[in-house]
Amino acid sequence: MTDDFRQEIRSVLDEVVLPRADQWEQQGHVSADGWRALAESGLLSLPHNGPGFLRSAVFLDELGGTGYAGIRASIGVSAYMAPAYLHMYGTESQRATWLSPGRIAALAITEQNAGTDLSRLSTVAKPDGGTYRLTGEKLYVANGSAADYLIVLARTRDGGTAPVLSGASLLVVDGRSPGITRHRHETLGWRAADACRVSFDDVPAAGVIGKPDRALMYLMPALDFERLVAGLLAVGGVRHCLDLLRSFVRSHQVRGAALSANQAVRHRLADLDAQFELVRTYAYHLANEHCAGRLDTKAAAVLKLTATELAVTAAQVCVQYHGARGYLDDSVPARLHRDAIAGTIAAGASELVRDLIFESGR
Ligand SMILES: Cc1cc2nc3c(=O)[nH]c(=O)nc-3n(C[C@H](O)[C@H](O)[C@H](O)COP(=O)(O)OP(=O)(O)OC[C@H]3O[C@@H](n4cnc5c(N)ncnc54)[C@H](O)[C@@H]3O)c2cc1C
Repeated sequence: MTDDFRQEIRSVLDEVVLPRADQWEQQGHVSADGWRALAESGLLSLPHNGPGFLRSAVFLDELGGTGYAGIRASIGVSAYMAPAYLHMYGTESQRATWLSPGRIAALAITEQNAGTDLSRLSTVAKPDGGTYRLTGEKLYVANGSAADYLIVLARTRDGGTAPVLSGASLLVVDGRSPGITRHRHETLGWRAADACRVSFDDVPAAGVIGKPDRALMYLMPALDFERLVAGLLAVGGVRHCLDLLRSFVRSHQVRGAALSANQAVRHRLADLDAQFELVRTYAYHLANEHCAGRLDTKAAAVLKLTATELAVTAAQVCVQYHGARGYLDDSVPARLHRDAIAGTIAAGASELVRDLIFESGR
């Protein structure tokens, strides 16, 4: 099943994503017809849980393999990271309303003073006749300008000035609600991810996900899933980078011989490849663990950390062996490098992830 399915995915990505990818990078977002074609292909509604998640794992790996990390982030957030909260904790009616593959989703968690440390959260949602009204500002929200709905973290109980996350809720917000303003960030990489500053001025929420004031309880399992997704996407990204490197060092001539004639070059690539094989095997092992309902915080953190940091190392080597041509702003190695850096910050900075691994160490 998996090989045929992988081939099917590649055909869709070759047809829908690759011909438009550079344009999406330039315009800063995936186009509406791209979203539509992907939704129609069925790839945006693959299973989040159970044995069927293996199909998602292959899709995420292949999506990463396109080599466009901004696009993979945009799709990963919309099809996995944001809707995960509804899959995990939403009601049947919320799922029926929001989880159509044609809808673009965003996850609005981070703020100016609340990134790694979410206890500094300042967005508030005040009760209003059975629902809440939101006021605050979120940053770096992928799909921020196009999102049909947003999953937003906000304080729903007055916790005074104490920096604690208790009394926060996860709210689902209709992207068409009055009072939402969106401004796209100019980012170093992930240019197609549509990362935005999103402000909420007395915006009515469409509903609370799970129980009010209990976001803390819901965040950790959802963030573990987010890191599994980020890890699988990064694995595909590293594969793409290593394929490019291998082909370049075999064809590029310096002093009358291919770069790969140098043992140092071959061994550098072999070392990267060896690390890649370990991370890739671990990623699929974790995908299988998730299928069986056994994803844990440490394992997800290990995958996210190793895959995204390997992506940075591989991209740096890619720029180096391409010489100055890899340093040109519009070159593929330059894009891979600036994109790889975002992977070690988004979905939890590497330092936070290391802390998680240390704290859950045996
Ligand atoms: C391209 C991109 C897309 C993103 N998309 C989204 C999105 O869709 N939705 C969303 O809500 N957020 C998103 N984010 C935000 C992301 O989740 C945060 O950037 C991340 O959680 C870190 O928060 P911060 O940027 O506020 O850094 P801070 O928390 O201010 O930390 C700054 C830096 O300090 C270092 N640091 C942190 N803790 C420690 C420690 N314990 N020890 C040593 N050093 C430490 C790290 O290097 C970290 O990068 C995105 C970020 C990027 C870059």
